[in-house]
Amino acid sequence: MNVAELLTNKLNSNQLVLTEFESKELLQEIGIQVPDQRLTSTKEETVSVAENMGFPVVLKLMAEDIVHKSDTGAVKLNLRSNDEVGQAFDELMKIPSQTEKRISVQKMADEPITELIIGMTTDAQFGPALMFGIGGILVELLEDVSFRIAPITEYDAKEMIHEIKGFPILDGYRGKPKADIDAIVDTLLKISDLVIKHEEIHEMDLNPVFIYNKGLICVDARIILKKKEDKN
Ligand code: ADP
Ligand code: MG
Repeated sequence: MNVAELLTNKLNSNQLVLTEFESKELLQEIGIQVPDQRLTSTKEETVSVAENMGFPVVLKLMAEDIVHKSDTGAVKLNLRSNDEVGQAFDELMKIPSQTEKRISVQKMADEPITELIIGMTTDAQFGPALMFGIGGILVELLEDVSFRIAPITEYDAKEMIHEIKGFPILDGYRGKPKADIDAIVDTLLKISDLVIKHEEIHEMDLNPVFIYNKGLICVDARIILKKKEDKN
C-alpha cells in the first residue's frame, strides 16, 4: 500500500491514530528504515514467525488502549529462542486491555551510538513544525531539542542537528564512533516532504530512532491524523 492509500483508508474508517505497525509501514514507504515486522495472533504463529525472521527478536503487545508500551511491560526485547518467544507471548497476553490484542514480532535492532527522537507537530499559527533531539533521558530532562517549520532545506536540517547541546554525542564523544549525520539529514527531509504533501498528518513521533556510524533505523513510531478540512 502506498502512503496516500494508507492515509485514505484510515481516514475513511474514521481512525485518526495509526498503530506502531502502520506508522512504521508508512515510514518504510518513504524510504526510512524500520526493523522487519509481522503481526501475529496465536502463540504457534508468533514462534514460527520469530524463528523465520531470525533471532534475536522483539515482541510488542499491540492494543489500541496501550500507548506507552514499556510502562505496562508490553515490550519484550532480545528474545533468542523459541522458548523465550513462547514465554514472552504468554506474559504479553496477560497484560490487561479492553481492545483487540495482537503481537508485533520485530527484528531486534543492533545497539546504536545513541537513540534519537524525530517528531512533527502542527502549530496553530505556522503549520507543521519538525522536531529533533537526542532520545532518552536527555530529551525528557533537558528538553534538548530543536524545531523548524516545514518545509525545511538541507541547510535547515543540518542546523537542527548541530544546534542541540547534545551534538558532541553524535560527533565522536569519548572515542565513540561518529553518527551518520547525512542519514539524519535525509530522514528530516523525508519527513518534511511527507507532511507538506499530506496535510492530513497532524502529529508524528519517531521515538526512538537508532543512529549508527552508517545509517539509522526507526524502532518505534506513532502517527496521528486530522480530518481533512472541507475546502469551500
Ligand atoms: P514505548 O511505547 O514504551 O515507547 P518502544 O517501542 O519505543 O515502546 O520500545 C521501548 C524501547 O525498547 C525503545 O525505546 C528501544 O530502546 C527498545 N526497542 C523497541 N523496539 C526495538 C527493536 N526492534 N530493536 C531494538 N530495540 C528496540
Ligand atoms: Mg517509543
